[in-house]
Amino acid sequence: MKRAFNFSAGPAALPLEVLEEAAAELFDYRGTGMSVMEMSHRSDEFVEIAQRAEADLRELLDVSDDYAVLFLQGGATAQFAAVPLNLLGDKSAADHVNTGAWAKKAISEAKHYCRANVVASSEATKFDRIPPRAEWKLDPNAAYVHIIGNETIGGVEYHDVPDVGNVPLVSDMSSTLLSRPVDVSRFGAIYAGAQKNIGPAGLTIVIVREDLMGRAMAGTPSVFDYKIQADNDSMYNTPPTYAIYIAGLVLKWLKAKGGLAAMEKVNLAKAKLLYDLLDSSGFYRSPVTRDDRSRMNVPFTLNDSGRDEAFLKQAAQHGLTQLKGHRSVGGMRASIYNAMPLAGVQALVEFMRDFERRQG
Ligand code: PMP
Repeated sequence: MKRAFNFSAGPAALPLEVLEEAAAELFDYRGTGMSVMEMSHRSDEFVEIAQRAEADLRELLDVSDDYAVLFLQGGATAQFAAVPLNLLGDKSAADHVNTGAWAKKAISEAKHYCRANVVASSEATKFDRIPPRAEWKLDPNAAYVHIIGNETIGGVEYHDVPDVGNVPLVSDMSSTLLSRPVDVSRFGAIYAGAQKNIGPAGLTIVIVREDLMGRAMAGTPSVFDYKIQADNDSMYNTPPTYAIYIAGLVLKWLKAKGGLAAMEKVNLAKAKLLYDLLDSSGFYRSPVTRDDRSRMNVPFTLNDSGRDEAFLKQAAQHGLTQLKGHRSVGGMRASIYNAMPLAGVQALVEFMRDFERRQG
């Protein structure tokens, strides 16, 4: 078996231990004579899997009983619509901070349902930073303030929770959830597609304050109505059972590794290795201001984009794969989620130093 150091932004690498456990149980889950993917979502075995996954997620993130944890489908993109549908209530506007490609998508979707105020934007500087909190022009009558916790394409991440007063803060944490401890109580809602740091594609996690539920706009599809899903233990319809099972194995793995504080330590060390190289080199460059750099997605460019192809080809020959930057920005991007070991980043940095020495 040959495993690459896979730097994909998502769907992304999963821990080998998780894949091994899933493989061992693939044909016969604990004596049931069937795979988890062949099992009724209402079976005792699967209900146990789903309950364990929720309990482990709550434990890892220290989620209080004031919040519902939902396992939905449709990706974070569906949440760009589900958030206004569920959380506008009697309000007609939502505040958005524009930090990049994902913020823009959230804004354009929200506009179908409400006035989406762009209260701050870093577009003028090519999304190289989080606009400083002091510059945000918040509307006290907005239903919520929406941010992207980590811009997966631009590589810009919030390193603290912005204070937005009494208006609920909503964050798309698709590419940062579980990479570090987070104070959930500071948020009205958090959502994330699973396929980066949590599990396979197909599962979307929503953590939402109980008192914000039950006010969905008329006509909200039932599967996207937080209250309906919460009242049905996220089984109003058939949930993505196998994705929940694998996410459950990832959560168990995270607990065995010491939880989110331990993960944060390793993630900081990985990011530092890579950014130190970028900053000390005249050959590579990070486009993001230092304070706002993502620990999960590290975009970088070569000083001569004519060498990009050679870089990617040779990297792949060294077992370092999926480093091509997003098609909208070009260059490279190394996504270094929890499942990427320190050794993978060390191997990448070594390769990059060597490539620079040889000038490709
Ligand atoms: N938000 C962020 C921050 C993302 O990284 C992504 C996926 N790359 C999305 C939203 C969209 O997620 P999905 O494709 O699961 O709908």
